[in-house]
Amino acid sequence: MNNAFFYRDQHFCAEQLTIAELAEQYGTPCYIYSRAMFTESYQAFANALGDYPGMICYAVKANSNIAVLNLLARLGAGFDIVSGGELQRVLTAGGDAARIVFSGVGKSADEMKMALEAGIFCFNVESEAELKLLNQVAGDMGRIAPVSLRVNPDVDAKTHPYISTGLKENKFGIAIDDAPRVYRAGAAMEHIQLQGVDCHIGSQLTEIEPFMDALERVLNLLEQLKQSGIQLQHIDMGGGLGVRYKDEQPIAPLQYISALKDRISKYGLELLLEPGRAISANAGILVTRVQYLKNNENKSFAIVDAAMNDLIRPTLYSAWQNIIPVKKAQGSKEDGVPASDIYDIVGPICETGDFLGTDRQMSLRQGELLAICSAGAYGFTMSSNYNSRNRCAEVMVDGDQSHLIRARETFEMQIAGEALLPADKDE
Ligand SMILES: *Cc1c(COP(=O)(O)O)cnc(C)c1O
Repeated sequence: MNNAFFYRDQHFCAEQLTIAELAEQYGTPCYIYSRAMFTESYQAFANALGDYPGMICYAVKANSNIAVLNLLARLGAGFDIVSGGELQRVLTAGGDAARIVFSGVGKSADEMKMALEAGIFCFNVESEAELKLLNQVAGDMGRIAPVSLRVNPDVDAKTHPYISTGLKENKFGIAIDDAPRVYRAGAAMEHIQLQGVDCHIGSQLTEIEPFMDALERVLNLLEQLKQSGIQLQHIDMGGGLGVRYKDEQPIAPLQYISALKDRISKYGLELLLEPGRAISANAGILVTRVQYLKNNENKSFAIVDAAMNDLIRPTLYSAWQNIIPVKKAQGSKEDGVPASDIYDIVGPICETGDFLGTDRQMSLRQGELLAICSAGAYGFTMSSNYNSRNRCAEVMVDGDQSHLIRARETFEMQIAGEALLPADKDE
């Protein structure tokens, strides 16, 4: 894939615009996305699926800006949602309800109702209790709920423990050994229509084996179900395909999807996938400005204007993201280029965990701009107002144009829902 983020001479660019100009126009910190990168990464999945029956359902939680969802909807994507809020985002962005799957362990009755009203493609149900509630909610509405059970195939995704979801001890899904019983229970429910089976074993997987192991276990289950007269139409392998942050060698969508198609085609099953990170991670960067340089004892710090509230992955998952200068330093010390040093790149938040990168060999000066790469997934969506910081702006670059797709939050927006206590009586 041709990267839309690249250096032209010594200036870092997004498509045809320089990051320095964008930072000038929109301020920092700021997420900058590339329309071309989103398009290309989605199409890698869609083209790999080709005319095989199925859907690519983008996992909204990776990046849920309505401009991103709208762009993907225009390309024909389906969506994987995990809340009523995500459902509303997809519908607001022009997504097709009939191409939505609804995942998540804790769907409320209200969320179920909203999704049934919208007419989504399928509920990915994660427990027997949820199945019972869904049957009841659908019954009250005089509807039939399309269902796929999310099973837990008990395979080790070999990824970070916080993003590993397919082991027995995880909260996700129904234990695969228990699944036949829950399917039979579902088959007996009046307002449930069993349509598929679903699994999602983890995120940022760089090997194909765990996926294929999970697939074998799911196919085994389907064979068992068939014997008890339960015939399903689709198999949903979830998301989880990894991307390159540093030197990972992720599996290409084409290789992955070809392997899946080869294995399942004889069963006549539709294939659904729920990629999030693989579509959005490398479609965005976070731009920040160096506020201060500081030396403590034997450590050097670059204190920047972005923080863990803007991008929590480095501290939450010990994730490594490349941090590079927006303007490459050229020349020598005589030209005023500062000596290189080993820096921790940290934010202004009052937490030792507030870092964006540690031990980075860089030549930095106060006031310069830095780009934190591969920030398009689980970046803005995980941001918060911690330390009462306004959430930052999001910008989409499209060729030689840029569009503000989320205005920088103001203090008034930040406290909009808050209220003072009533005055005391003696006041
Ligand atoms: C988070 C999640 C995804 C997306 O995972 P990625 O690693 O971003 O591809 C897909 N499906 C489910 C059920 C999820 O929870």
